[in-house]
Amino acid sequence: MSYPEELLKALEITKKHNIWRRFECINLIASENVMSPLAEAAYFTDMMHRYAEGKPRKRYYQGNIYTDEIELLVMDLMKKLLQVEYVEPRPISGTIANATVFRNLGSPGDKAVIAPVQAGAHVSHTKFGTLGALGIQHIEMPYDQENWNIDVDKAVKLIEEVKPKFVTLGASVYLFPHPTKEIAEAAHAVGAKVVHDVAHVLGLIVGKRWPNPIHEGADVATSSTHKTFPGPQGGIIFTNSKEIYKAVSKTIFPWFLSNHHLHRLPAMAVTAVEMEHFGEAYADQIIRNAKAFAEALMEEGFKVQAEHLGFTKSHTIVVDVRDLGRGAKVAKLLEDANIIVNKNLLPWDPPEAVKDPSGIRIGVQEMTRFGMKESDFKEVAKFFRELLIEGKDPKTVGEKVKEFRKNFLEVKYAFPIPKEFEKSPIKVPMLL
Ligand SMILES: *Cc1c(COP(=O)(O)O)cnc(C)c1O
Repeated sequence: MSYPEELLKALEITKKHNIWRRFECINLIASENVMSPLAEAAYFTDMMHRYAEGKPRKRYYQGNIYTDEIELLVMDLMKKLLQVEYVEPRPISGTIANATVFRNLGSPGDKAVIAPVQAGAHVSHTKFGTLGALGIQHIEMPYDQENWNIDVDKAVKLIEEVKPKFVTLGASVYLFPHPTKEIAEAAHAVGAKVVHDVAHVLGLIVGKRWPNPIHEGADVATSSTHKTFPGPQGGIIFTNSKEIYKAVSKTIFPWFLSNHHLHRLPAMAVTAVEMEHFGEAYADQIIRNAKAFAEALMEEGFKVQAEHLGFTKSHTIVVDVRDLGRGAKVAKLLEDANIIVNKNLLPWDPPEAVKDPSGIRIGVQEMTRFGMKESDFKEVAKFFRELLIEGKDPKTVGEKVKEFRKNFLEVKYAFPIPKEFEKSPIKVPMLL
């Protein structure tokens, strides 16, 4: 049969992407990860075609006998992993989780005090993003550049003055935990709620290598489910407050979604069980690798930030690359050599510098999932040096990167696909 050209083109583009990103690159984007083959198999199911508006057992459509069961299972598994009483798994992204919680805690015109943008606040926390779209006022906490964190004393004073409806914590450049206890005390004293967005560190929390904000005094937490937590792209809300849970789960549908992308649910269940079994070992290796990579880059001559604080307590490190041609150029050179990072604002950059900021942000969680250890990151640091300091040709370095990547193609911290499923009548292999 002869296929239309556009169809072949679509398949070819997809195949190129798959091969490049899964077999040839070293991916160091701090907000990405991959699912296990079993979770991917569980993701690619008929559920992607169905609707289930409403909550389990209270749907507006028929046909949801099994989607109800899987949604309830995900809620139970995540409650157990996070040691909380309520989990809302329907947000289709971290941003939708934030929109739902912000809109329930505040109305247009209300004030929110947010973690400073310099401390890595996500765009959805700001007047430029979801908070702004909801008409909620954005008032930023002061930042302590020396400590790469919120300035607690000044933030407490600001909260006392402003008396906001809620305060947000959490970040996309998250080297050290935000001071949840201190901020929650100040917020609660003026009747404000605390939302802690743990999108980047959910996997570290379930792996017990990062504080769970709900246990530290936050009223509600929001997250993505695909960063250090290696599940399908999506969002989640968790809390111990019945009142917040009820409000949120009554409004997410119909305010912020109708269909909640049901095929996420079986993949979430598989990932949750993987994290229950392997999460601590995985989180532990992530933290070791981040430190080792920071040290190795430093030894190779890079300006890795926050050295006096031990570089990082998370999966993320940041490097000042102003003397190497700034963030945009450096990130592009790395991409040409099959190493994927993103350019990132550093605390002293004005917001306008976003297109060509001072730094790059690096996350080790995906390559850790593919089995890299401390010594492997030393090799990666050498590729950085050859390319960015010695000025070697990106093509030459890129070939070495491809060769190196061949040692890390299998997802670790996961169960293999059970034999009996290999006979499944529905076969949907990833296009290769
Ligand atoms: C990634 C991120 C989000 C947004 O998540 P999406 O799932 O991409 O919508 C929200 N908050 C923080 C802190 C993030 O880093």
